[in-house]
Amino acid sequence: MSGIAIPKSTIVDAPEGLAGPGFFATNLDKAVGYARQYSIWPLPFATSCCGIEFMATMGTTYDFSRFGAERISFSPRQADLLMVMGTIAKKMGPVLKQVYEQMSEPRWVIAVGACASSGGIFDTYSVLQGIDQIIPVDVYVPGCPPRPEQIIDGFMRVQELVRNESLRRRNSPEYKKLLESYGIKTD
Ligand code: SF4
Repeated sequence: MSGIAIPKSTIVDAPEGLAGPGFFATNLDKAVGYARQYSIWPLPFATSCCGIEFMATMGTTYDFSRFGAERISFSPRQADLLMVMGTIAKKMGPVLKQVYEQMSEPRWVIAVGACASSGGIFDTYSVLQGIDQIIPVDVYVPGCPPRPEQIIDGFMRVQELVRNESLRRRNSPEYKKLLESYGIKTD
């Protein structure tokens, strides 16, 4: 009888720390980063074709929930990862910025695909030539459109940033300066 092959489950690596018989010690930054990286709530800001690839990424074949990120948020106030997918017209810029500003810290941003990253093929007066002209971006995913594997790769890079981010980063003068350079209030 042919049975269904059940893949072996894997256990993720523990954060950096000190292990001994019956105990494991680490620091707060690493414990928080470890928890956050597997509980990211994405907000899909999808305006065109790249959004369709994201829909495939959420489906059973690619199974985004393997990364703890299946809880999609359509409210910026309950999201910590803004995924911008598609062409962003200049008229749409202020809306995107408002969505970003409504997200609470800590928040991260992925520009998915050529349009969100650089305007893509639309080198024209009406299209924003990259969302980093209005909000800071953490990870850029290349492609027109990127395949779901590339979106997952970009997401895993965000997970890496989340895991390694210091709890103090958001209060640092460098971070405040970065936001101020985009005209975003920090208090
Ligand atoms: S990068 Fe290509 S696939 Fe993605 S929104 Fe732009 S034109 Fe569409």
